[in-house]
Amino acid sequence: MIIKELANYLRENDQPKYRLGQALRSYYQELHDSWDQISTWPASLRESCKDMEWSPLAVHQVHKAESPSSAKLLLKTKDDNSIETVIMSHDDGRNTVCLSSQIGCAMGCTFCATGKMGFTRNLTTSEIVDQVIHAARYLKQKDSKVTNIVFMGMGEPFHNTDAVFEAINILTDPELFALGARHISVSTCGIVPGILRMIEEAPQVNLAISLHAPNQSLREELMPVAIPYNLGQLMYTLADYMRKTNRKVMFEYILLKGVNDSLKHAKQLAELLEPYKRLVHVNLIKYHDTGIYKPTEQIGRVEFQDYLKRRGISVTRRVSFGEDIQGACGQLATKRQNPDSQD
Ligand code: SF4
Repeated sequence: MIIKELANYLRENDQPKYRLGQALRSYYQELHDSWDQISTWPASLRESCKDMEWSPLAVHQVHKAESPSSAKLLLKTKDDNSIETVIMSHDDGRNTVCLSSQIGCAMGCTFCATGKMGFTRNLTTSEIVDQVIHAARYLKQKDSKVTNIVFMGMGEPFHNTDAVFEAINILTDPELFALGARHISVSTCGIVPGILRMIEEAPQVNLAISLHAPNQSLREELMPVAIPYNLGQLMYTLADYMRKTNRKVMFEYILLKGVNDSLKHAKQLAELLEPYKRLVHVNLIKYHDTGIYKPTEQIGRVEFQDYLKRRGISVTRRVSFGEDIQGACGQLATKRQNPDSQD
């Protein structure tokens, strides 16, 4: 729902202020899908709003993903771009929705399928929030609800910072979608101004960093963002984040065979993170082949993990469909190409 457009319409038509609140409750909390369902509104007002779009996104198709515990919603924007929103249902009852913040991505990470698509445009705040609303409606049919949100689909959230922060405000507003901020995670490739803004505006939201290289030269090779925001500056900013918020930072690390997966790299990673290890968690991700790189074999991934553990770094390996959707930005697009991949 485009809140500003509706608020303007109601004001211009001399409606009392509470009409907006009634519509927002109908949309965000009761998850209605048409003007006709706002039972607290007079019929004439419902009818007069019908020229306005109820949702900026159309559900194109809903289908089950390969895993029985996940679903994909295929959504279309008004200008006919596609967004795939993934819902992961966990054994403990949580349902995580993986959101996109852009159509494509401009960051150009060399291992990433989304990066290869190039950049089309930013999603609007309403287009971001409505991915959640469509997921919540889907889950409601199954007597379930959205419990967690991750910005780990298409795009770099801090390349569309205003819309992403506005969306987080709507999703956490007790009068609107009312999800706790600690149930939301944002994954960034390391855009420093976005992290600084998160310290100020959303300190309760979880932060994940797509790191993928333990030194500056390799990071520059894999992730062009490391040129304007170098590793030293990124770690300095993250130290500031940890000091001010006392929150853990998740570091995502995709293991690429012969590129970043040697014991030398594990040692460099341990040295990089050791000073902060109380508030650091490393997530080692199995790479889904996009053509340029090969995934590290299982034995190499286990050795990399064991080395970090020996150095006292908290570390896990994500391997299953359900888990690696929470791996890192861009993995959603990667997965689309390799839906059957398992460890
Ligand atoms: S890894 Fe993330 S930031 Fe990099 S190109 Fe892919 S989506 Fe963009």
